[in-house]
Amino acid sequence: MAGDPGSPGKPPACDLCGGDAVFLDRVRGCHLCEDHFKSDVEGRFRSTIWNYRLIRPGERIAVALSGGKDSTVLLHLLRKIIPRGGDITLTAITVDEGISGYREATMEVARAMAESLGVEHRIVSFGEISGSTLDALVRTGGDHPCSICGIHRRKALHAAAEGLGATAIATGHNLNDEAQTVVMNCLRGDLPGFTRSPVRCSAPSPRFASRISVREPAGGGIRRIKPLFRIPEKEVALYAILTGLFRDLPECPYAGTALRSEVRRLVDRLENLRPGTLGRIVRGQEEVASIWREIRKEALSPAGGPGSDREN
Ligand code: SF4
Repeated sequence: MAGDPGSPGKPPACDLCGGDAVFLDRVRGCHLCEDHFKSDVEGRFRSTIWNYRLIRPGERIAVALSGGKDSTVLLHLLRKIIPRGGDITLTAITVDEGISGYREATMEVARAMAESLGVEHRIVSFGEISGSTLDALVRTGGDHPCSICGIHRRKALHAAAEGLGATAIATGHNLNDEAQTVVMNCLRGDLPGFTRSPVRCSAPSPRFASRISVREPAGGGIRRIKPLFRIPEKEVALYAILTGLFRDLPECPYAGTALRSEVRRLVDRLENLRPGTLGRIVRGQEEVASIWREIRKEALSPAGGPGSDREN
């Protein structure tokens, strides 16, 4: 689908209805109008949840809501497919890291967003869980602020989700985040990280079962799910703008210096030069994770492993 490139000054035409296009999908080579773009994003979101069986009947989902565009779009889309009063419950959790001059504004956006969607909202702070703010932890030195933040945020989210009796924590990681993580794991030589599945689920649909890793937390604990992991960041941002969810928020003062920032620039440039790179990185890693798990399963099975075919 190439679409009508449009006359000068006029937007190109949507390939599906001929209306004014707002988006050019360079991977599939098609233009989409606002309505078709939004339903395309919503369709991919639904199919990710369905194909990877990310959500099950009767679940209580804790949604990590920072107030930024990704988590806001995540909550909005989950509310669209999970009606109020059904057997699946949503609760938004905002983690207050204790970053002076930054967190206050985003927390207010998160609170208002949850209220407008009729989703229960909880706030959990680093102070409650770790006894200190991120600002104070950073002053003591050691790791990069984002590494310290990541560890304590996971801990805080997990504690809050456990307190709620949640069965899964949904986070707003998009396709760019996942591709960056794959590249960072390679650069660090982090084999366990590289061979970990990007989503965690229990029973993928048969079509996907052969392709993806199946991970269930040991002891049946709280799963972490990433329903936006197949949607590129640009599309999440455009969806947020078109649905009136986008808020211009301050940037975290610690952002921009971590390895992730450099990797982000690298993969964005590659995606720009060769559309589809992000998806190929994540799909390739899924394949490797799946093969790796099969190898480990065989090696650990009583019949497998080194020496299993040796005669005694
Ligand atoms: Fe935490 Fe780093 Fe994100 Fe700031 S940029 S909120 S320090 S992970």
